[in-house]
Amino acid sequence: MSYNINNNGYYGKFGGAYIPEMLYPNVEELRQNYINIMAEPDFQEEFQQLLKDYVGRPSPLYFAKRLSEKYTTKIYLKREDLNHTGAHKINNTIGQILMAKRLGKTRIIAETGAGQHGVATATVCALMGIKCVVYMGEVDIKRQAPNVARMKMLGATVVPATSGSKTLKDATNEAIRDWISNPTDTHYIIGSVVGPHPYPDMVARFQSVISEEIQKQLLKHENSSNPDYVIACVGGGSNAAGAFYHFLEDTNVKLIAAEAAGHGIDSGESAATSALGREGIIHGSKTLLMQTLDGQITEPYSISAGLDYPGVGPMHAHLYDSGRAEFISVTDADAMKAGLELCQLEGIIPAIESAHALAVFSKKQFKPNDVVVLCLSGRGDKDLDNYINYFNI
Ligand SMILES: *Cc1c(COP(=O)(O)O)cnc(C)c1O
Repeated sequence: MSYNINNNGYYGKFGGAYIPEMLYPNVEELRQNYINIMAEPDFQEEFQQLLKDYVGRPSPLYFAKRLSEKYTTKIYLKREDLNHTGAHKINNTIGQILMAKRLGKTRIIAETGAGQHGVATATVCALMGIKCVVYMGEVDIKRQAPNVARMKMLGATVVPATSGSKTLKDATNEAIRDWISNPTDTHYIIGSVVGPHPYPDMVARFQSVISEEIQKQLLKHENSSNPDYVIACVGGGSNAAGAFYHFLEDTNVKLIAAEAAGHGIDSGESAATSALGREGIIHGSKTLLMQTLDGQITEPYSISAGLDYPGVGPMHAHLYDSGRAEFISVTDADAMKAGLELCQLEGIIPAIESAHALAVFSKKQFKPNDVVVLCLSGRGDKDLDNYINYFNI
């Protein structure tokens, strides 16, 4: 069995491109060109150069000694938190802005919920001097004021989505409407391994630099390029896709995905898609998603804004369905505790998303000689208010 995408744009039975007719030319242009463009030597050269000099890659693979002692196993942290803008998202937006340029696009649109993807997109648009429009729910604009300010400082136009619940899905609808109206000059930068084919594959390839580096770095540390386990949190699934990518077909490397259980899987307030989701179509692909009996998408909840998504990308639906990856649900409480623990054992304040991955150590016992790599997807500066309120600091 293959765990990567097939020629038709499917991971097992998940994936594909379920899009309105009006969007077909845009998506088809991208599908026909993305592999060839990414293979061009001058594309690769520019991409690698920016990852190095602008993002600060390779990100370190850090042996976490005190955390390892606490859980009597060997834990390495892949430090995506040290990237420019503080998370892995920049790997993808750099890749897509270069793709957009090669396709002759002069305008970028994106949608954002918590604002992290909006900031990563506004950043690369400033870098390239390309016009940037970010759609964001009116409610989210109020909730995420610092990120709205960052986007504006970076020169982006932030457009409020005022329909429906005025959150992420409404912003997505507005972005799609914009793309349909501006098919020739505009590229739509999607922020995770979601959306119609070829987005999940394209984003996974841009993020695959994470596992490419892990292999090289682990060879130096452990004399073997492959760990026993890779752990990552899953919202849409892009940091996990990048951390898993070069290990997908080697089943000796066990893959663990941490998903947000909010107040608990059965609380009615969670984002635990593998536990609660059923097959359905969201944002143009067939995947697992949380829905009511008659197929209405359930409003997700997590303390972490980046994991607050009612589905997972099709790669992860397949990894779950095939049993290739183990999915572990982590509540707000588990994640917050694990986040604070990393602060105090290693002097690293993690993003609350990444803290969900860290909580796996309190739920699963590893052997003393196991080599466990955890993708520390982002830093916690953006979550300070959340930590302060939660712990009454
Ligand atoms: C956005 C975000 C996530 C979730 O997105 P994925 O596509 O699942 O990786 C995880 N961690 C951080 C720090 C984020 O900003």
